[in-house]
Amino acid sequence: MRRRPPLALAYHGVERVRLRDDPFRLFTDPAALRRHITLLRKWGYEFVTFAELARRLQEGGGRADNSVAMTFDDGFSDNHSVLLPLLQDEGVTASVYVVAADMGKPHHVVPWRRCLHPEEVVELHQAGVEIGAHCVDHVDLETLSYEAALDQLVRCKALLEDVIDAPVQTAAYPYGRANEETRRACKDAGFLAACRTSGNGSWDDPWNLPRQDMIAACTTLGLWLKRDDRYQPVVETFPGRVVRGLFHRGQVLIGR
Ligand SMILES: [Zn+2]
Repeated sequence: MRRRPPLALAYHGVERVRLRDDPFRLFTDPAALRRHITLLRKWGYEFVTFAELARRLQEGGGRADNSVAMTFDDGFSDNHSVLLPLLQDEGVTASVYVVAADMGKPHHVVPWRRCLHPEEVVELHQAGVEIGAHCVDHVDLETLSYEAALDQLVRCKALLEDVIDAPVQTAAYPYGRANEETRRACKDAGFLAACRTSGNGSWDDPWNLPRQDMIAACTTLGLWLKRDDRYQPVVETFPGRVVRGLFHRGQVLIGR
């Protein structure tokens, strides 16, 4: 099997939602998610939690190659009702990043969907899904001082550990944003690793690991480009119209 560098994917909700109800493209159709899993498997990836991916990176020597971590930010309730049975059916694992103060409450940008109740977080954990920290309040940590960022990370970790009665080992920075101070705060808060979005970060820094964005419109071609970290350069180089046309036509060519 061909060796591929590690891969981490950033999803949010998992449900078939009309695009006009999903202005931020936060929901992935479960059928599309299954297609992604099938392709990743075909490409030779092993599905691991983000914490496991981080441990493999720490071991070095290419241990993390051919590992993929599917991550789900914000702790949408469908991560329990839709994602969990799908993961169990496919026999794969994932990581869910929970906003501690939002548990059981409406989501901060799509209030028609609620966030996971603590009991649902426990069930996900017991089913082998990693529960990670996404701060207490979904704040942009780059706008906070070191002390305030540390407080968000420490308290989120403690609150979630209290819920699942187990260590919370990794964090996902809200909006994928983390400057040097933020990353230092994350390390000092006792996290093993943390992740960004949009391909930002580096595989060499455990508190600055990159993830690829998996928005609702992510196509097979999109996943193919993200696999090799070529997606951002393409969308930043060409006008949106060209990219959409390319994706439309390229759809049939990929998947091998
Ligand atoms: Zn988020």
